[in-house]
Amino acid sequence: MKTKTTFFCQNCGAQYAKWMGQCKTCHEWNTIVEEIVQTAEKRTWKPLNTTLNTKVSKPLKVSEIALDNEKRISSLDNELDNVLGGGIVPGSLILLGGEPGIGKSTLLLQVALSMPQSVLYVSGEESQTQLKMRAERLQKQDSNCLLLTETNTQQIFRHITEIQPDVLVIDSIQTLHTNAIDASPGSISQIRETTAELIKFAKETATPVFLIGHITKDGHIAGPKILEHMVDVVLQFEGDRNHLYRILRAQKNRFGATSEIGIYEMQQSGLRIVSNPSELLISQKDETLSGTTISATLEGMRPLMIEVQALVSSAVYGTPQSSSTGFDIKRLHMLLAVLEKRAGFKLGAKDVFLNIAGGIKVDDPAIDLSVIVAVLSSNDNMAIPQDTCFAAEVGLTGEIRPVTRIEQRIAEAEKLGFKQIFISKFNKVSIKNYQIEIVTVTKVEDVYGKLFV
Ligand SMILES: [Zn+2]
Repeated sequence: MKTKTTFFCQNCGAQYAKWMGQCKTCHEWNTIVEEIVQTAEKRTWKPLNTTLNTKVSKPLKVSEIALDNEKRISSLDNELDNVLGGGIVPGSLILLGGEPGIGKSTLLLQVALSMPQSVLYVSGEESQTQLKMRAERLQKQDSNCLLLTETNTQQIFRHITEIQPDVLVIDSIQTLHTNAIDASPGSISQIRETTAELIKFAKETATPVFLIGHITKDGHIAGPKILEHMVDVVLQFEGDRNHLYRILRAQKNRFGATSEIGIYEMQQSGLRIVSNPSELLISQKDETLSGTTISATLEGMRPLMIEVQALVSSAVYGTPQSSSTGFDIKRLHMLLAVLEKRAGFKLGAKDVFLNIAGGIKVDDPAIDLSVIVAVLSSNDNMAIPQDTCFAAEVGLTGEIRPVTRIEQRIAEAEKLGFKQIFISKFNKVSIKNYQIEIVTVTKVEDVYGKLFV
């Protein structure tokens, strides 16, 4: 047995023969760590049982390739199926990332328990008793899902050979280890090696494999970026632990688009699909409060009415501060600077707090106008009517810019009973197609004049 040490970059997964301060591949500093890699046993998945349905591929003419080779399996979860691009592709490796405690295990266990296929759910995080209790909370007892607590891949493959599951779930990749190398679970070399074994298994048997991967504070899946390169699909499960809503989105999908999202609500009995998210993301209240506005945003292909909340107060400690939840802080600083210049907003003496309701993160630039109006509304202590909403980007000079798919946003606002929507004058829409009043604006000053004077 030969002992070998290798150096890995924790950021990108690049491998080096010796330590160095800066990674040559991704140019990050101090990311290279030493790991002992001891080749102990011959590597990877090998079917022990020749009766196992191992798929051997052979060269075929185009006309010979049957289209049902790519036949997808439904997870019976519409949101998940949509995000995957129409169901689970046999033999695919799907990585589900997200912060600890966000509900990744709940989502996949729920799916595993509902599917009519035989699913093997392997947990290195929880005992079978804990899994049973979890399954009871999900109120799904009677299913074809088998639960196993195991972290060693050779043991897992032994069970697989016996059970021959249709779908495999691994919770989580960070707990796995293979006898093939001696590094500790969660180390870069273990993650690489165990993932490689699972890929080989998935491809050879056409069995789809779900991998749960925890994400570190800075938003990366713990372990090398290479994990994201190795798998076919990277799904992200987002949300705020203190809020009920969760968004499932695809960051990478070899078999479909990455524009679809799924929205869930966390309940006592598990995750419930939210079919009309806009109604839920707007907080219910009787009176109009200053500092809140509604934005007609798009998440993926889906229109979503989102509430923006701003609180502006005089800076207590001299140095004004601003913070934001669910919205890019740099973007907020930019918008505040625009306000200072264009709307006489005395930024220098104010604290600004911004929050996107529901614990959702928004990247859609169409939310800019809503952010600006919420800040002005809180600053002037003047409420915006609850039946008014906004959809426009704001540029550096205070110009109100058009946004994509405006018709879809207007239609959603109209459907939900909004009476008025502010959009950019440069968004060409035919006003007579809508019941809702469409207010077009070109500059921040216009908006201020129309709402607050
Ligand atoms: Zn690197």
